[in-house]
Amino acid sequence: MTSLFPFPQIRDGQKELIKDIETVLETGNSLIAHAPTGIGKTAAALAPCLEYALNNNKIIFFLTSKQSQHRIVIDTLRLIKDKIDKNKSQINFSVVDIISKQAMCPRDIAREYYAVFNEMCIHEQKTRKCRYFRSDKTVTNQILNNILHVEELKDLCAENVLCPHKTAVDAMAEADVVVCDYNYVFTDILETVLEKTGKPMDDLILIIDEAHNLPDRIRDHLSGELTLNLIDEAAKEISPLDKKLHRHIRDVGRFFDRFIETQPGNTELNISREEITQGIEQALQEVLGGGLSYMEFVESLKAIEVEIAEKEQHEKKEKSPLTSIIEFLEGWNTNLPCSRVYRNEVNPVLSFRLLDPSVLSEKIISGAHTAVMMSGTLYPVEMYADILGAKNALLKQYKSPFPSENKLVLITKRLTTLYSMRSDSMYNEMAKKISQIHDAVGGNAAVFFPSYSLMDDVYRKFQYNSDAKIEDKSEDIILEERRMSKAAKNKLFNKLKINSNKILFGVQAGSLSEGIDYKNNILRAVIIAGLPLSPPTLEVKNQRDYYINKFGQEKGILYGYIYPAISKVMQAAGRGIRSENDVGAVILMDARFAYPKYRKCLPPDYDIEITDEAEKICSEFFKKDFVVKALQEAENKIREEKVKKSFERIKVEEVKINSMPVIEKIEDKNLIPLAVLECVYEFNERLGVHKIAGILTGSNAKFIGEGGYNESKNYGVLGNFTAADIAAVIDELLQKDYLERAGEFMYPTVKVSRTGGLAILKKEEIKVDTLSQIKEYQEKEQKQKTPHEEAEDMLTPGETELFEKLRMWRRKLADRNNVPPYRIFQDKTLREVARKKPGTKEELKEIYGVGEAKLEKYGGVLIEIVNG
Ligand code: SF4
Repeated sequence: MTSLFPFPQIRDGQKELIKDIETVLETGNSLIAHAPTGIGKTAAALAPCLEYALNNNKIIFFLTSKQSQHRIVIDTLRLIKDKIDKNKSQINFSVVDIISKQAMCPRDIAREYYAVFNEMCIHEQKTRKCRYFRSDKTVTNQILNNILHVEELKDLCAENVLCPHKTAVDAMAEADVVVCDYNYVFTDILETVLEKTGKPMDDLILIIDEAHNLPDRIRDHLSGELTLNLIDEAAKEISPLDKKLHRHIRDVGRFFDRFIETQPGNTELNISREEITQGIEQALQEVLGGGLSYMEFVESLKAIEVEIAEKEQHEKKEKSPLTSIIEFLEGWNTNLPCSRVYRNEVNPVLSFRLLDPSVLSEKIISGAHTAVMMSGTLYPVEMYADILGAKNALLKQYKSPFPSENKLVLITKRLTTLYSMRSDSMYNEMAKKISQIHDAVGGNAAVFFPSYSLMDDVYRKFQYNSDAKIEDKSEDIILEERRMSKAAKNKLFNKLKINSNKILFGVQAGSLSEGIDYKNNILRAVIIAGLPLSPPTLEVKNQRDYYINKFGQEKGILYGYIYPAISKVMQAAGRGIRSENDVGAVILMDARFAYPKYRKCLPPDYDIEITDEAEKICSEFFKKDFVVKALQEAENKIREEKVKKSFERIKVEEVKINSMPVIEKIEDKNLIPLAVLECVYEFNERLGVHKIAGILTGSNAKFIGEGGYNESKNYGVLGNFTAADIAAVIDELLQKDYLERAGEFMYPTVKVSRTGGLAILKKEEIKVDTLSQIKEYQEKEQKQKTPHEEAEDMLTPGETELFEKLRMWRRKLADRNNVPPYRIFQDKTLREVARKKPGTKEELKEIYGVGEAKLEKYGGVLIEIVNG
């Protein structure tokens, strides 16, 4: 067995996985591995693949679906390197960690939408306008001689005025391991990648992590939508620059208009590729003085897209209407099997989506030397083999390494989110059951719904309920919101503390129900509130029919309809138990889970009980001795980890362990210097002042998201201050010896001194003069109201009462979401609501500060409050 495994012990599941990977490496075959959480699949895959690659001159591509997964890969490779160095072995290997060109680009044009950025980058390379686009062998060697995380690689290149992407790609030629996104292999850039590595396809060893995401990622790559609005908006973009092209796009608009008029109302229809491509081509040919072909038209749009971007100030990275149209027209024209649907909605839509990911993946999986596809939810493995076209792959389901008795799995009777059964009383019952289960587990619980609207409906039953106990619980609910930024989601996640007794409301297949690690038993229960079957749209039907045609009736329904829903359930249900020591309950709160056709699709290690009394069974489970002990140990572990970390860092044996403080919330200004020290301490000499200030103020800068700094518990705790304020505090802490200069890695960094370490441990109040100056300045900034503004604020007594009610609701919501109240609604808006008392959403829409998004999110509640 491999000598490169970096840990002292190999667990049973790991042993089996390593053995299987060694077998497929020897035979040049592939593996599809359902490897439940806890097996330790990253090290188990990397060690044998690396050994084989080094002995046989192959190259490993470790493919991930998210950038956040890179860190564990790089850390594992560093451990392997440490082991090699410790054994004084002659083995050497090099690694390149690479993300998208745009995410690595240090220039302003990186803020453009991808397609535009890409065109501009290519143009600047060709015209030699980009001063970063050059090679430097010394820097390439530095990358190859050190295992750098992509953030470190970017810093190194920035220091040397080099394009990080080009430098990383240059380094690929000599690398043994490339850590990158699926896109590097599963799109048409594969050819360029192969050219850069100088290796043929069969020299590639692919490790595809979280591979349950791969089919949808391939499908999403070939999908798009077209509307009349989009055409109009794009025409406006083009109009000032090219009158002829503007006429062409107007012709396309007229064609689409005529097309809409000839379609039957209120329906969805399948549309052939040719009907649209030929219609557009004909419309283009009708132009006086000669028209363009379909593809000539697309190329002209691309050229003007770059021209527009060059004239703009690179301020935002959103997809422009013109870019959307280009992507649509290119994608629609493909010969690959797609669902092509016309939906006659208020704003009619033409959409397409790839039906068969295997048209792309099959040749890649069979062409590579070996592909190891692995995930904790790659179940059933036969389905993934079928839909990815991995015909001869070894299919394996590994046993969960966690004791089965640690997980309670229940299906509740009667409750359901089946469309025909949805009603106020059903939502009320669901709220009641969630509340009872939450009481029974006595700690944090997460509830994942099939959609935001269902989540809102049940949440409302918590907000307004005749049972005061349920209504009070609404205070404990943390709510995921639509289109939350990554930083906001992390902030929300950080509200879950070991004893916080919260209920997290989120959606299935959302970013709180997938890919997030709820460590140290932070969740005691996960409730799956509804079976997330897709609504029966024509696209869903097309997918199901395609698979029925390809794999037969039974498999077609399973692959096209049922398993995609079960996969979301498995992902969400898996959030609770993340280690062999965790204990918890999974409650499948939809009676349909008990139906044989769905139940047989759940993994075999789900030991299910069907009940009407989930709360009672949960209560008994959480009273069991081993469960109480496990939860106590999790709590102790968190405390010990904090203490241990602090002792390792500052080595002050004389301080008692139990005095370790944790800064929960920065309300007291005397804690501000402590928060700064905590943050510096957390990043252990790796960060400079600029990044520390960005983390503490909750900055949305690119480096924050990319470095995962928004996952820090200190992220945004000093959101009321500016980066300059924090930098001034850091300066003063340096002068007062609480901080020291650490070193020059890529830039000067700071570290906590012994004095600072003691201050953290003793939760010392540190006087920092800078703070008084900042406060003074903030007070000066307070604006005086004009007499006109004061008159505007006047309300009658009745209006004042309603205004106060509205403010109280806003305060609760703001506290719960950890945002300032004005971010929900300004006082001016609430005053106007109190004055005008809107009774409908239409009336509410007329009020200052109520846009579409806020209307959708808060409209129902506001009207309920107004109506008393
Ligand atoms: S060559 Fe590199 S630095 Fe220059 S624009 Fe492209 S990605 Fe950015």
